[in-house]
Amino acid sequence: MTSKSNIKSYDLDYIWHPFTQMKEYAEEEPLVIEDSDGVYLIDSDGKKYIDGVSSLWVNIHGHKVEKIDNAVKKQLNKNSHSTLLGITNPSAAILAKKLIDIAPKGLKKVFYSGDGASAVEVALKMAFHYWILRNKPEKQKFICLKDGYHGDTLGAVSVGGIDIFHSTYKPLLFESLQISSYDSSNQTLLELEEILDKKSDEVAAIILEPYVQAAGGIKVASPGYLKKIKILCDKYNILLIADEVATAFGRTGEMFACNHDSVTPDILVLGKGLTSGYLPLSATITTQDIFDAFLGEADELKTFFHGHSYSGNPLACATGIANLEIFEEEKTIFKIKKTVEILEDELKEFRGLSHVSDIRNKGLMAGIDLKKDPSKGISYKINERIGKKVCDLAKEEGVLIRPLGDTIVIMPPVSIKEKELKKLTRSIYKCIKIVTEDEKE
Ligand code: PMP
Repeated sequence: MTSKSNIKSYDLDYIWHPFTQMKEYAEEEPLVIEDSDGVYLIDSDGKKYIDGVSSLWVNIHGHKVEKIDNAVKKQLNKNSHSTLLGITNPSAAILAKKLIDIAPKGLKKVFYSGDGASAVEVALKMAFHYWILRNKPEKQKFICLKDGYHGDTLGAVSVGGIDIFHSTYKPLLFESLQISSYDSSNQTLLELEEILDKKSDEVAAIILEPYVQAAGGIKVASPGYLKKIKILCDKYNILLIADEVATAFGRTGEMFACNHDSVTPDILVLGKGLTSGYLPLSATITTQDIFDAFLGEADELKTFFHGHSYSGNPLACATGIANLEIFEEEKTIFKIKKTVEILEDELKEFRGLSHVSDIRNKGLMAGIDLKKDPSKGISYKINERIGKKVCDLAKEEGVLIRPLGDTIVIMPPVSIKEKELKKLTRSIYKCIKIVTEDEKE
């Protein structure tokens, strides 16, 4: 059997970790997660950690959920994979029906991919191609938001707005029209209308993360904001692409963040929580109108020439079905409201910490900003690694979280219980206090 120390050395010798400075990583002891139980992840020494960021925002109902485990096993006994190119499978079809049943009204067709970024690429290509098919080929540009994040493939990066992740690749990207982020909501709307007033004829779509810009630092929009954007999209005849890869499946307190404003986007992008964090699966969901534009005879070449090897993978789709059934059986959306209340109550405590400059949340997505001197708006230097230090200390407390710079993110599985949530927030509180007050001296 492979020993624990072998795993660590194989990891250090052979893996290049995503979004990780490998020089720093190599100087530390790797954390090896080997097991799980509900809201907990368990390392190779048997130590338990609350999964405080839902394994990077994917987990919904916890780990080792019997119903989802069984769905995988059942599907394994039938078929693990067959392509969706020109043929189908029961799990993909059933999940598509279930998604359309719960999606904002008016969305009709599901296009599957493997991860969030791919589903965003699909949305961008569909929007672009749609206008060609509707005889408006000049509508080619995308509007996006500062601090927006839609994944790491080049199309997704072209509509991204986080300079430290995205600016390096600028020469490789297509140009998009960037407007202000959510922290100045009225400004965003003004800028949007200004652009549309001048050149809506050139604009294919706006892409945004409804209500919460997650990777951009848990930036939260004010109520009613999405509705206003949708009104402008309709007025100026551009498509609305709602990237709900991070916000869907209860995370913001509703099944979809669009539901807060009863908005139906033209294209809805889902990923992460679609399988409750079990297997990679994403979906780009469109209106009948967009789907219809691509219909024609083979020689008209209107086909959407895009697909992925694992599109509609039956194992992944089986977990997606189980995920949605749990939402129904356990009335998850109803229960979240109470969990959100508890989280919001707990977050109030953080205001008393002298280095906390801001706290934001929408549902179970929360961000706590740390600053060297909040009253003067002075940030910590990058090399002070404050966010990372808080998260490192939290590990010792049995809490696994990952910061966005100096923003501490709290995004637990939607299923988290009151006691677990309080343990999570109180541990984080303690770690922020210790780390920031230490730094002061
Ligand atoms: N869109 C949003 C809003 C995201 O938060 C993410 C991932 N954090 C993505 C797209 C990309 O998803 P993936 O990592 O599965 O490619």
